[in-house]
Amino acid sequence: MRLGWLVAIAASVASVTVAGQQLDLSAYAIVDLSHAYGPSTVFWPTSPTKFELEKLAYGKTEGGYFYAANTVRTPEHGGTHLDAPIHFSEGGRTTEQIPLEQLIAPAVVIDVTAHAAKDRDYRATREDVLAFEKAHGPITRGTIVLLRTGWSRHWPNARAYLGDDTPGDASKLSFPSFGPDAARLLVDERGIAALGVDTASIDFGRSTDFQVHRIAAARNVPGFENLTNLDRLPPRGALVVALPMKIEGGSGGPLRAVALVPK
Ligand SMILES: [Zn+2]
Repeated sequence: MRLGWLVAIAASVASVTVAGQQLDLSAYAIVDLSHAYGPSTVFWPTSPTKFELEKLAYGKTEGGYFYAANTVRTPEHGGTHLDAPIHFSEGGRTTEQIPLEQLIAPAVVIDVTAHAAKDRDYRATREDVLAFEKAHGPITRGTIVLLRTGWSRHWPNARAYLGDDTPGDASKLSFPSFGPDAARLLVDERGIAALGVDTASIDFGRSTDFQVHRIAAARNVPGFENLTNLDRLPPRGALVVALPMKIEGGSGGPLRAVALVPK
């Protein structure tokens, strides 16, 4: 019986039965949407700390076997990460309270790379969202909306990526993202699950009032920042799984995001 179970589990690794429907994982390409965390990870210039990995053990033990373990320290907001609603809304959900339905959902990708190539302070507009819907169909409730600016190509060159890399100074940042009108349409009218972007913030770099963060947080809509590989996703049809470290009381957290893209 036990062996039978193991054989069944082994056989089901590449295909999962969900509610009577077969999810055939071999029919999907799995795309990594996260940057790795390491010495070159890009952080906001005012972040007092960065990601640190400290080796506690690495090598052969007295018992003759190999053993490795580390301690990590990291700001919540750096590298590919989640913004929990409480980041910009008192009483908003903290990281561990975000419903999984907002983190695992169908995604659309709005491509503004052409605009961003001409204007590094570009903000996606309401018209960009409406043009997407005209071309690819309506953005429905519970969708994860990803904005593709092409900025990931600058990673991890902080100066090119953020527009300025002066330590302790965030006043001269310059990179594209969502604009408030697009955010209002998506969050307030479409009822989307989450906003994500391949730059450092769901507000553009020059923002001083973080309107998009506040619009999203007010409706308990989380943000995914510093995503990558959005050029490998179709405008519609991918399933995104964006699972942050489940930090109790967190205002965000490191995020491992992947997409299942039909082959
Ligand atoms: Zn953040």
